[in-house]
Amino acid sequence: MAPSDQDAARFPIVDPERGLAPYGAAGRYSRGRRFAEPAPAYRTEYQRDRDRVVHATAFRRLEYKTQVFVNHEGDHYRTRLTHSLEVAQIARTVARALGLNEDLVEAISLAHDLGHTPFGHAGQDALNACMADFGGFEHNLQSLRVVDELENRYAKFSGLNLTFETREGILKHCSARNARQLGELGRRFLKRRQPGLEAQLANVADELAYNNHDVDDGLRAGLLDVATLTQVPFFAEQLLAVQRGHPRADQRSIIHEVVRRMIDTLVTDLVTASAARFKDHGLNHPDDARQLGEPLIGFSRSCAESQQALKAFLRRHLYQHPKVKQMTERAQAVVVALFNALQADYSLLPAAHRARAETAHREGGAAAGARIVADYVAGMTDRFALQVFEHLNLS
Ligand code: MG
Repeated sequence: MAPSDQDAARFPIVDPERGLAPYGAAGRYSRGRRFAEPAPAYRTEYQRDRDRVVHATAFRRLEYKTQVFVNHEGDHYRTRLTHSLEVAQIARTVARALGLNEDLVEAISLAHDLGHTPFGHAGQDALNACMADFGGFEHNLQSLRVVDELENRYAKFSGLNLTFETREGILKHCSARNARQLGELGRRFLKRRQPGLEAQLANVADELAYNNHDVDDGLRAGLLDVATLTQVPFFAEQLLAVQRGHPRADQRSIIHEVVRRMIDTLVTDLVTASAARFKDHGLNHPDDARQLGEPLIGFSRSCAESQQALKAFLRRHLYQHPKVKQMTERAQAVVVALFNALQADYSLLPAAHRARAETAHREGGAAAGARIVADYVAGMTDRFALQVFEHLNLS
């Protein structure tokens, strides 16, 4: 039985927003949910958002989706699920240190990749090309679509009915054309304003997490090597410190130690540099950060440069690596073939999707039908996409 507000009064719980700074997103400032719901009895609204994301079907599928390495390559590579957990860990650490709302930043972090296609960015680019005549495909917008429309868990509404603040954080980027259709949520893209601090933090934690875990995964896969990585001064510095401190350590523990130290250095810098900017701007309300044209959560200049150098290195040596390129070209071919086949013949879709596509097409034309096909393809895991591809004899 659901606890009532009277029960809540009896729970001997501490204030869940204890420790929030004046500019942290306290629940009382929330712009609320699209469909009004009674307040939760013993959780905050943002805890409820986080819990809804964890129970979503799209969240479970993250286990079988990847960004760089295709899922079946090995059991030790990051998946979108473990990536999302790492983002949430980093973001929560920084949030607690800065007095920001940990629950909100966790909800955003866990939801940020829900709209990703199979096969990471290769899949997203391919689907975007397929949808060129039908309004395109943007993975951030798709993550929002997942939590606003596609998850089907509540009798009263479609989607998860998350708070404005979590949805604001999920929508990291958005074209002006789409922003115009999103009402209040899209306004900041048109006015070139920043989202709340928790949204800014989840965004930086995302980048921090993947830059560093891609180093680890790239080394593990043998696509990167330690000697070449020393071209990145930030990596070289940490490597030297580890080798001096642990001259007899084996290669694997050296790599782990270097990655651990890089993350620690960046997180520490993120906390100190952001705190200094809060102070400079005299923040004392969560909306203060939304009035600005530049984000306040970010690294110091020197650390930002280190991150840029690492990013550029990964682009050149990992994402453009012939083996990765071979994988991504194959992935794109699979996504394109799936989309084209399903778009040409809705009867190849499962019954429920077929009915939705037919209705959408009838009522909204070809673009509306294509959107349902794109939703279906985007929702696929890597392995499911390959299964359907083979089942439909598309190779
Ligand atoms: Mg991510």
